[in-house]
Amino acid sequence: MKYRSTRGSKENTLNAPAAIIQGLAQDGGLYVPLAFPKANFKLEDLPKLSYKQISAMIISLFFDDFSKEQIKSAVINAYSEQWDDRSIVPIEKHDDNFYMELFHGPTLAFKDIALQMLPQLMTRAVQIKKIDRDIIILTATSGDTGTASMRGFANQNGTQVIVFYPEGGVSPVQLKQMLSQRGNNLRAIAIKGNFDDAQTEVKKIFNDKTFRTKLNQNGFQFSSANSMNIGRLVPQISYYLYTYGQLVRRQEIKLGDKVNFAVPTGNFGDILAGYYAKKLGLPINKLVCASNENNVLTDFFNNGVYDKRRKFHLTNAPAMDILVSSNLERLLFDLYQEDSQEIASLMNQLTQRGHYQVSGEVFSKMQDIFAAAFASEDEVKAEIKRIYDYDRYVIDPHTAVGSYVAHQYQQKSKDKTPMVIVSTASPYKFPETVYTAITGRECPQTGVAAIKKLHDELGGQLSIGVRALFDHEPHKEMIIDPSNMEAEISSILNLK
Ligand SMILES: *Cc1c(COP(=O)(O)O)cnc(C)c1O
Repeated sequence: MKYRSTRGSKENTLNAPAAIIQGLAQDGGLYVPLAFPKANFKLEDLPKLSYKQISAMIISLFFDDFSKEQIKSAVINAYSEQWDDRSIVPIEKHDDNFYMELFHGPTLAFKDIALQMLPQLMTRAVQIKKIDRDIIILTATSGDTGTASMRGFANQNGTQVIVFYPEGGVSPVQLKQMLSQRGNNLRAIAIKGNFDDAQTEVKKIFNDKTFRTKLNQNGFQFSSANSMNIGRLVPQISYYLYTYGQLVRRQEIKLGDKVNFAVPTGNFGDILAGYYAKKLGLPINKLVCASNENNVLTDFFNNGVYDKRRKFHLTNAPAMDILVSSNLERLLFDLYQEDSQEIASLMNQLTQRGHYQVSGEVFSKMQDIFAAAFASEDEVKAEIKRIYDYDRYVIDPHTAVGSYVAHQYQQKSKDKTPMVIVSTASPYKFPETVYTAITGRECPQTGVAAIKKLHDELGGQLSIGVRALFDHEPHKEMIIDPSNMEAEISSILNLK
């Protein structure tokens, strides 16, 4: 299957391995299928299929340049003992809603689903394209992508990972995870700025032609592990299909019934995968876009204006502290019927003026499919407490954003469609907030010490992934100015 850029001509295409290696298109756009594929499954197949089978099916649908054997081994490597639940994605029911738990991988957040797979795809893509340069995975992170990509690529031959994260903008556990990853090909560097500063600078470095030439001459080539990479997005479609199948299997719904998904959203990757699942024919009624106080998307879905000119908040759901949601570009591309000139113009307005407005027609399409609202930090804590008090189920602050917004939506809209809340992180990844929410007291400690405190409160077994947090000593933090990111990369790679 061929891919093209959201901002480029449809004559200008490349195949999936090339799109995965490049990560971002050189015109600043994102890669999308030249023609969106038709489903290679029937709805009634889904209840019978395991997570791995669905993953292999979706990957072969979108990435048909990989052989069956390559896909099979990739799926087996990506979803095996590093997961603490054999089903990969367990689904829980609490207070009449379903919680799709995506955090049973090695770094305790949903990013593992895609970032255990992306390195598998990347190394196979490099073989197919017969590339002999080292691939440099350049990544901006609001916390979870950094750790998950370091973990996924650790000691993978021919790859190096350089992660930039906002100083003070990630949680203590995320910081410890990033600074204690083991692997001779991994770097994590703090920048003085927020996630958007890091992401903007990474995009700029990607599109700096002179720098790219210099890299190539030194035997390197950039790629990205952000959800801007299509190789990261596609594996995320699988859990929507799998969960639907499991709900049918458990007789919670009948085949063909519609469901809603509430998705705690930052860069719009997760919810876009849900939209793609809907395009493949999954009976989704509403995708509920849940934000924290950085509620750009709430406003966008409710009035059609995307306006990033607002205060940036550091919140207790830090992986969603984002004002420029990159993957929204892929949604707009679809809603504007693949008009790449229109997309280039909107994205240009966003960069130049900080805002844009969609057409009336596009706005009404958006409103058919999406609902949107946000939760404040206090509402997040109250939601953790509400769910805990109901039946002792513990959710993390990001999941709580989704859960709160889902609950509000159900009360306001009277929509009785079964609701799945996308659960994106383990509560032990954000122990300070969860402890305070549940006990009503400030957590006296942070980081791994706070995990102990929370565990004392909750009891039960800690998963392997959580216990691993106690193992390694972190490196010292390195902090630079965003304007020095390019120079820092040069120095890490010893560019001449
Ligand atoms: C990354 C992340 C999100 C946001 O997902 P997007 O795909 O960026 O919208 C939500 N919750 C957690 C825990 C995350 O790590």
